[in-house]
Amino acid sequence: MIANDAEKFKKVISHAKEYGYIFQSSEIYDGLSAVYDYGPYGALLKNNIKEYWWKAMVQMHENIVGLDSAILMHPTTWKASGHVDAFSDPLIDNKDSKKRYRADVLIEEFLAKQDEKIDKEVEKAKKRFENFDETMFRTTNGRVLEIAAKREAVHTRFVKALNDNNLDELKQIIIDCEIVDPISGTRNWTDVRQFNLMFSTSFGAASDSSDVVYLRPETAQGIFVNFLNVQKTTRQKIPFGIAQIGKAFRNEIVARQFIFRMREFEQMEMQFFVRPGEEMNYYNYWKKTRMLWHRALGTDASMLQFHDHDKVAHYANAAVDIEFKFPFGFKELEGIHSRTNFDLSRHTEFSGKKLQYFDPELNENYIPYVVETSIGCDRMFLAMMCNAYDEEGVGEETRVVLRLPAILAPIKVAVLPLIKKDGLPEKAMEIFNTLKFNHQCYYEEKDSIGKRYRRMDAIGTPYCITVDHQTLEDNTVTIRERDSMQQERIAIADVLQIVNAKVDINTVLKQLAD
Ligand code: ATP
Repeated sequence: MIANDAEKFKKVISHAKEYGYIFQSSEIYDGLSAVYDYGPYGALLKNNIKEYWWKAMVQMHENIVGLDSAILMHPTTWKASGHVDAFSDPLIDNKDSKKRYRADVLIEEFLAKQDEKIDKEVEKAKKRFENFDETMFRTTNGRVLEIAAKREAVHTRFVKALNDNNLDELKQIIIDCEIVDPISGTRNWTDVRQFNLMFSTSFGAASDSSDVVYLRPETAQGIFVNFLNVQKTTRQKIPFGIAQIGKAFRNEIVARQFIFRMREFEQMEMQFFVRPGEEMNYYNYWKKTRMLWHRALGTDASMLQFHDHDKVAHYANAAVDIEFKFPFGFKELEGIHSRTNFDLSRHTEFSGKKLQYFDPELNENYIPYVVETSIGCDRMFLAMMCNAYDEEGVGEETRVVLRLPAILAPIKVAVLPLIKKDGLPEKAMEIFNTLKFNHQCYYEEKDSIGKRYRRMDAIGTPYCITVDHQTLEDNTVTIRERDSMQQERIAIADVLQIVNAKVDINTVLKQLAD
């Protein structure tokens, strides 16, 4: 059984490897830090996540179109976007452990600890008093107020330091809060420095500095530089969106927590172009719509929350994260940003090409404003794995089951002959060969049926079909459902319809349209 969140996370990581979801990149050479490969089931799950996102965006909106732009872009792109000058994180080293940290993350973790302290006080008091009034306690208890006041003071300093880009003050906060390195346990810190997160490489045969190109740190810029191409060729009118899924690269300072923070990852981004002044309406619309997308998968409301940014990026006038409750706490899963007309204006300035839109209703030209939704495909994958992983006692045994939403499950249905003889494998293969046109299926004849069921539970397969001797007589099979483990005898002719009903992506998409 799972003792706590930390143990759960460890289990999810080893499960992902053991069952062919995720492998460390170049593992035979001891791996490459924060780079991962997706195994056979991982690749399927990831594709299903992308399909759900793409359909929800592109197929379900008459005014959103897709794009697949290149990873390598003209280097001026990144000067214009501000990434060359400003895409950096404040780093700090501990001189004893020689470990590197993000200064802002150390302070954020300190703030989160203060919240935990308050929660603990509340929990203690709850046990002590009958008719406990939590709001009253939080607003009047001396100890709670003391911790909250300290937290608030640090938070205010932190936000100001971030906004002023004041690296000395960030260090001072770390010193004043007596934050220690979790490894060495010491407070022997270096100064805070900015570190640019973009990977660079050289372009073409000659290698002088003028040939430096970057691996894109976000997919969005590919959308902005193609704004006119897409708008003209698709004849879209504002408001309209451009969506794309693709790789992004960031030389992250601290790459921990498995696929949560990777150096090579995949983003699903949509830029929505609107009239200046209308951006906040669409910002609120996309906040709501994106939360609905997550909830339609059946994720419990308590696992998701909005979090407004303390510091908005250099290009934004409003920003909110959708956070998911990972085993290591609520963390960003998706960002929704009102990016103003910053990017299109800057590309206009640097390229000399007018990235404008002629609005026939207003009879005027303007640079559109942009609302962006940006979600990491890998983070979504991790959220779904953590949400799905479960262990339950079945008789004497423990069953590990991945309760993935059926539309995301890598394998939809397994076809299993009860035994490996008497014509059962041939009959099972026949069924497999009819179902495979509609669904990703699985066939296995090795091991006992019980073991094969457990394996399918661990992979998250919603249905197992078992072919036995009776099948040969009356063309019926048993169908076993993953979560309830209920088995039912049904006609082979009905299998497809039952599986279809459960794994149909349209039923989920319809929830978004209602
Ligand atoms: P963080 O604060 O966690 O570094 P961010 O605010 O820099 O993230 P954005 O630039 O808003 O992230 O990127 C949009 C989305 O891309 C994030 O919500 C996240 O899901 C994903 N993402 C960003 N960086 C990484 C990474 N290093 N590994 C995996 N996914 C990432």
